[in-house]
Amino acid sequence: MEIQIREGNREQKRKLRVCAYCRVSTDADEQENSLENQIRHYETVIKATPSYEYAGVYSDFAISGFKEKRPGLQKMLADAQKGKIDLILTKSVSRFARNTSIVLEATRKLKELNVGVFFELQNINTLSGEGELMLTILAAFAQAESESGSAGAKMVYQRKYEAGIPVQYLERSFGYTKDERGVYIADESEAVWVRKIYEMAADGYTPAAIKRYLNENGVKTVGGTKWSDSTVFRLIENEIYKGDYIMHKHFVNEERKLVRNRGEVDAWYIEDDHEAIVSPELWQKAQDAIEAKRDYLAEGSVIEDFTEENYPYMNRIFCAKCGHPLYRRIYSNGNRLNWGCSGTKRHGKSFCEGINIPDGVLRKAWHFDGNMYIDEKPSVKGTKEFTYLKESSWKRRHKKKVPEAIPENTEEAYPYRKKIFCGLCGSRLVRHVNPKSHKVIWICNGAKRKGVAFCRGTRIPDSVIRGWGEIKKDIYIQRKDDKNGKKRYSYTSKKPTA
Ligand SMILES: [Zn+2]
Ligand SMILES: [Zn+2]
Repeated sequence: MEIQIREGNREQKRKLRVCAYCRVSTDADEQENSLENQIRHYETVIKATPSYEYAGVYSDFAISGFKEKRPGLQKMLADAQKGKIDLILTKSVSRFARNTSIVLEATRKLKELNVGVFFELQNINTLSGEGELMLTILAAFAQAESESGSAGAKMVYQRKYEAGIPVQYLERSFGYTKDERGVYIADESEAVWVRKIYEMAADGYTPAAIKRYLNENGVKTVGGTKWSDSTVFRLIENEIYKGDYIMHKHFVNEERKLVRNRGEVDAWYIEDDHEAIVSPELWQKAQDAIEAKRDYLAEGSVIEDFTEENYPYMNRIFCAKCGHPLYRRIYSNGNRLNWGCSGTKRHGKSFCEGINIPDGVLRKAWHFDGNMYIDEKPSVKGTKEFTYLKESSWKRRHKKKVPEAIPENTEEAYPYRKKIFCGLCGSRLVRHVNPKSHKVIWICNGAKRKGVAFCRGTRIPDSVIRGWGEIKKDIYIQRKDDKNGKKRYSYTSKKPTA
C-alpha cells in the first residue's frame, strides 16, 4: 500500500496520527469482512509503518434494512475535530457508507480540518489533487443515488417539478450559489469567469489553454484548487450554465459504479430550471467547438495494421525541422497514434526540437502524392498549427541535419583516454561509437576481448567523463545504480584487487 502524504504546513517531522474506519453490514461476505479481521488488518498496517502513529480503529456495524446510526463515524469525526487524527484509512467508498452523500459530507468536513481519507481500493487520498477530482465524482454519484434512491423517486420528482419545487442541488457549482430555497443563483464574482470560459471555448481555445488562462489569473475552482483540463471540460459541457438541469445525467449501475446515462434509465431534461449564466447559443457554440476538436483528434485512433494501404503517408512524412522521417508513436495503451520526429528520438532534443502530429490531423490533411515535410507551431489557443511542405521546396531551403561529426580518437579530442580504467577488473576503457545514435561510450577492454566471464564490464558515456573535468591521475570507474535504478558512476584512484 502506498500513501501519498499531503504537503501540509504542519511540522513535517512529527509522525502522522493514523486511524482506520471500517464498517460491516450483515449482507457482506462474513469470513473476509468480519469486523475483527478488518480491525486486525488495519492495526497491523498502521503499526508496521514507521512514519505512522497508531490512532485507533473506528468501526460501525450496519444491519441492512435499518437506518444507519454510525456511532463509530460520529466518534471519529469528533476526534478529528479535536485534532487527534491526521489520516484515516478505509477500504473503499462503498464501504465507508451505503449512501455516498454521507461519504461526501464526511470527507468534505475532514478536508476542512486538513484530515485526509485514504480509500485503499481507489488508491486515493482526499487531500491530493486527484482527491479533489474524486470528490467531484463522488458528488455526482451522490446526486445520482438520491435521484434513483427509491422506486417512487421519479414520481416524487415529477410531482415536485410540477408543483414548482426546485431541484435540490447537493453540490455548489462554480459560478453559482444557492438561495434559501436551494435554488441556484449566479454568483457574479465567478459568473464573469464562466462567461469568459465559454467565450474562449467557442472561439476555439482548448481546455488546456483555458486552464492555463484561469490559473494565470489566479482563479480557483469550487474546491479551492487550480484548474485542470478535466475540470474545465466538465464545466463547459455542464448544461447547468444555460439554466437547464438534467435529472439522471448519471446513474449508479448494478456494479455500483457511477456511469453516464446514455438512455439506460429515464432522464429528465428540465429547461429553465434556474438562472442562466450563458445564453443557449453561446453554450451550444462552445459544445460544437469542443466536440469538433475531440473528433479531430480521435479520428484514426483505432490503430490498424501498419500498411501503406491503411496509412498511405507512412513512408512519406518527414520532420521539417531536421529532415528526418517521422515514426509512429502509440499512446494511451494503444488507443492513440501520433507521428513524431525520429531525429529527436535518436539524437535528442538538442539535435531537433521535434514535431508530434496526431494521426487524425494528418489523415484529414493528407491529399499529397510525394514526400511531405511537416512543421508545427503552437498557437495561443492551445492547438498546434501544422504546415506541409513539398520535398522540393523544403530541400531548396533546408538540408537534412546530421549529428555533429565524432572526433578522431586522439589525445587531443579525449585528453583522458589513457587514464580511464574499469573499476571491476582494472582493464583499460576503450572508445566505442554507437553506430545508430553516434554516441561515444567507453567500455571495458577486458570484457570486450575476453567476455563477461572475465569481467561484467564497465560502460560509461563519454559525456559523463567530460562532466568530471580534468583528470590528472589514472582512475578506476564503476557504475553504481542508485535506489531508483538511475545510473550513477563513481571513480577512485585505487586499482581494484583480485
Ligand atoms: Zn526533427
Ligand atoms: Zn572490466
